[in-house]
Amino acid sequence: MIRVVCPGSFDPVTNGHLDIIGRSARLHDEVIVAVLRNISKTTLFTVEERVEMLREVTKEHPNVRVEHFNGLIVDFCRAHDVAAIVKGLRAVSDFDYEMQMAQMNYNQAGVETMFMTTNPLYAFLSSSLVKEFARYGGDVAGLVPEPVLRKLTERLATQ
Ligand code: ADP
Repeated sequence: MIRVVCPGSFDPVTNGHLDIIGRSARLHDEVIVAVLRNISKTTLFTVEERVEMLREVTKEHPNVRVEHFNGLIVDFCRAHDVAAIVKGLRAVSDFDYEMQMAQMNYNQAGVETMFMTTNPLYAFLSSSLVKEFARYGGDVAGLVPEPVLRKLTERLATQ
């Protein structure tokens, strides 16, 4: 039984995230999407909202579950008997930081990290760009799942 974790802020989940989650779900027995409750970072959506949106858009995958976490991902991995962390790599610019983080996690807890190359359709995509473009009237309809687009439009209208 191989259980892996896809960690992130998912503020909000994009089609790039979903691509990595779906591909991980085909390769492993179970995928936990772990949503970081980051107290030092201001987010557009609360952790509960981010978890709810992820649950909705991953419901077609029976082996994916969504949880939230605080603190270190390696502690989450120990507590949930997770074999490896799966991360998406978009561009070389992701690489330096991700490699350091992966080595630190291995050094601290022997937790492995596996990198999946992004689908080229989504290589430019990040939650922060989606929020920025949506805020100023950009069309992000093809970049996030439909229920997320609705929540995003609603939230930005109230700001
Ligand atoms: P973001 O950088 O969008 O704020 P998160 O912190 O939520 O992302 O990212 C969680 C994980 O998803 C990271 O491993 C990140 O590299 C990966 N990821 C984010 N966007 C994409 C994408 N467009 N394609 C592949 N992986 C992605």
